[in-house]
Amino acid sequence: MYPIYLDFNSTAPLLPDVADALAEAYQARYANPASQHAEGRRARRILEDAREEIARLLGANLTETAPDTLIFTSGGTEANNLALFGLTAARSAPPGRIVISAIEHPSVTAAADELARSGWQVDRISATSAGVVRLEELDELLSNNAGSPRLVSIVLANNETGVLQPIEEIARRCRARGVLVHTDATQAIGKLPVDFRALGVDAMTVSPHKFHGPRGIGALIVRSGLKIAPLLHGAAQQLGLRPGTESVELPLGFLAALKAWNKDRRDRPRRMQTLRDRLEAGVRQSYPAAVVNGAEAPRLPNTSNISFVGRDRQALLIALDLAGICCSTGSACASGSREPSPTLRAMGLPENRTSSSLRFSVATTTTPEELDEAIARIARTLNGPS
Ligand code: PMP
Repeated sequence: MYPIYLDFNSTAPLLPDVADALAEAYQARYANPASQHAEGRRARRILEDAREEIARLLGANLTETAPDTLIFTSGGTEANNLALFGLTAARSAPPGRIVISAIEHPSVTAAADELARSGWQVDRISATSAGVVRLEELDELLSNNAGSPRLVSIVLANNETGVLQPIEEIARRCRARGVLVHTDATQAIGKLPVDFRALGVDAMTVSPHKFHGPRGIGALIVRSGLKIAPLLHGAAQQLGLRPGTESVELPLGFLAALKAWNKDRRDRPRRMQTLRDRLEAGVRQSYPAAVVNGAEAPRLPNTSNISFVGRDRQALLIALDLAGICCSTGSACASGSREPSPTLRAMGLPENRTSSSLRFSVATTTTPEELDEAIARIARTLNGPS
């Protein structure tokens, strides 16, 4: 039985064009872009051109005399850590307050926990049962007598439900009070149009392996003129904000994935949503007790978080795996954990929903035939052979 991969929110394997771009880049045997010789300067030019084009495609403003900055990192986790530690340290001593939500990825919540250990006050905005952060709680925290938070960090699209958060509105409210805003856009890019400047945020996390780019690279885009302190200390690469010998190849793969998305941005969301809706309809037909979590809110076109009420998600995941279906009990980062999903818990869902939920995520490479086969295998797994 051939495997059917429906776990693209965990990682989206390379598109052929991206694999070709990476292969070509590695064949080119680039020198160290920090070297002063001609080969080093050539590598530097190629790297900086890629950085600029990535930033431009993501809506950074590069036309001002002090343009927005794009810092390459090792991935989304490091970019989120850089945002939380870098933007607080740069404005800090003594510790202040930051605001996150109850539905953030562990790379934000664990970084916030670490700030709390060094004396920061961390406030968490809760979510509605549809999975959207409560703006009225943000308003309360922004007008709190204890003083303004230094930073608000809210995810753009939740990784488990795909539910979109009102980041433009959050940014508007924060900026009116001079509070910095970071958004983790890891899951949204490559699935919906995302424009850094249009969102109005001060910093944004990007992770190309979620949209068919390479693993091992990510980025934090930071608004022009904003001070950020590095996590790592070393030489002067990337303005000293993320020192270490730079890859030329990974940014070229990152750019190829972003270009592929950009070329396909009109059709890709629609194509993914058609497949996702078909999956949900098929599942509900074979298992009427199934409930789609977050369906009442605007959400990513590729993500389906389904509670199979009456079933145990871990047992079901294993049974589906045996049937050749790759899905997940939440985020891969939490796999192996039997703890209920923090996102579904934050939505206040009852235990029979949180203990029975699985996440399916499709991609532009998913075919209708594969999807119909997946629906049939899911039906057989749930109900036995017909
Ligand atoms: N944020 C979100 C919303 C994610 O889904 C992920 C990946 N699971 C990350 C951050 C971390 O990104 P990376 O895997 O590139 O470190």
